[in-house]
Amino acid sequence: MTEFDPAAVPAALSRRAFLTTGLAGTLATGLAVSGLATSGLAFSSLAARAGAPLVGSVQPGALRRRLGKFEVTTVLDGYLDLGPELILGYDPKIGDPLRAAAFASGPSIQGPVNTFLVNTGGKLVLVDAGTSDKMGPTLGHLPKALAAAGVSPDQIDAVLITHMHPDHIYGVLTPAGQPLFPNAELLLPELDRAFWYDDAAMNAAPDLTKGFFLGARQAADAYARRQTLYKAGEEVLPGITAIGLPGHTPGHSGVRIDSDGQSLLIVADLVHVPAVQFARPDWSVAFDVDPAQAAETRKRTLDMAAAEGLLIAGMHLGFPGVGHVAREGDAFRYVAASWPYAY
Ligand SMILES: [Zn+2]
Repeated sequence: MTEFDPAAVPAALSRRAFLTTGLAGTLATGLAVSGLATSGLAFSSLAARAGAPLVGSVQPGALRRRLGKFEVTTVLDGYLDLGPELILGYDPKIGDPLRAAAFASGPSIQGPVNTFLVNTGGKLVLVDAGTSDKMGPTLGHLPKALAAAGVSPDQIDAVLITHMHPDHIYGVLTPAGQPLFPNAELLLPELDRAFWYDDAAMNAAPDLTKGFFLGARQAADAYARRQTLYKAGEEVLPGITAIGLPGHTPGHSGVRIDSDGQSLLIVADLVHVPAVQFARPDWSVAFDVDPAQAAETRKRTLDMAAAEGLLIAGMHLGFPGVGHVAREGDAFRYVAASWPYAY
């Protein structure tokens, strides 16, 4: 039997603190009982038990954190490949080093499609709904992720849509075109509702986005009898306030969640490619209805978030999509929040 040797504990564990708390003795006893402290434990004996087959997939993405008296769970629909060709005004001399600094080695960057489930204690509100089966096999996993979070679609009281783009609203439907959320009210930004139902706007839109109009209408029409339009600045439910972030679409909205002195600003699609757009907030994306206005909104909102030290969440910020904004000269840097260790 080998004696437990406290000197063998890595220095980083602080040997002194370890000894004074009495953990050393407890650990030594535990190790001896489990047999791990015996010198007879060889790697080969571990290898003999390593017969578990590979799972072959990643876990459904769902991560919960507490915000005041609320819980906010990121529910992952999947991911998109975002190439530099989607970024308007992309200059490789500036953008390529930014992508390299983010260790994005391929031609495109994988970015998530996050949704956020807010439990106020009285209501379950899903902010955006992902894609259903309409955008390929890397997406459409929201139902699985929701199940992993312990929630079934019929429990959801409201689905708040930040804007009516495919990766945000198509997921309110099942692949068969039925409402996925049988008991939910659909909350839509009034300005987006008007825009996506406007035939003149559809005819004037680039080919890239023409189909978005019909898709948005199909999704919204399925909830025609339980649909509420909201305006920027409106508290849509207690503690849940819509914030106008126009440009990406006319009604593109953030959602401010306030509970018991804590706040989170869901910025929706303020940023699509964090690796470059925090450093270059003036770079918009090809899907922006008004790229100049989107850039203005981005700069103003990131500026406010940095000044206030506000916790933000984004649909296309790396899962779980929650973090802070730091100022970096004239631009910004994204600092992902830590894992929510404590409830
Ligand atoms: Zn989006």
